[in-house]
Amino acid sequence: MLKTINIKTNSRSELIDITEKVERVLSDSSVKSGICCIYVSHTTAGVLINEGADPAVQRDVEKTLARLVPLKGDYRHAEGNSDAHIKSIMSGASQTVIIDNGRLLLGTWQSIFFCEFDGPRSRTVAVKIIEG
Ligand code: ZN
Repeated sequence: MLKTINIKTNSRSELIDITEKVERVLSDSSVKSGICCIYVSHTTAGVLINEGADPAVQRDVEKTLARLVPLKGDYRHAEGNSDAHIKSIMSGASQTVIIDNGRLLLGTWQSIFFCEFDGPRSRTVAVKIIEG
């Protein structure tokens, strides 16, 4: 089962919690055991799994990425968004979560975040559920 989640981002850089949207795809599939792959087919966005309980963690991740990979730098890419490409590589294009008892096997504090690095834009996230 493959489903697409549409996301409208609101700023150039932001982390958006998509855990509930991914859980909805899983519950619609009625798969009880398997693998859930969350895939982002964009070159200036990504997906990561980390703490969702304290929003300060998202803020710290964003600020640290901005400090490590500044908007302006020794870049040659003419589009002017090399920082976003590099941050996309750092976060990665996909995450895999184990499905157990019909639920995503996330830790208590874990959430799934769509990472926007060159917004605002309309984005898509593909969610593939594999039974097994
Ligand atoms: Zn570019």
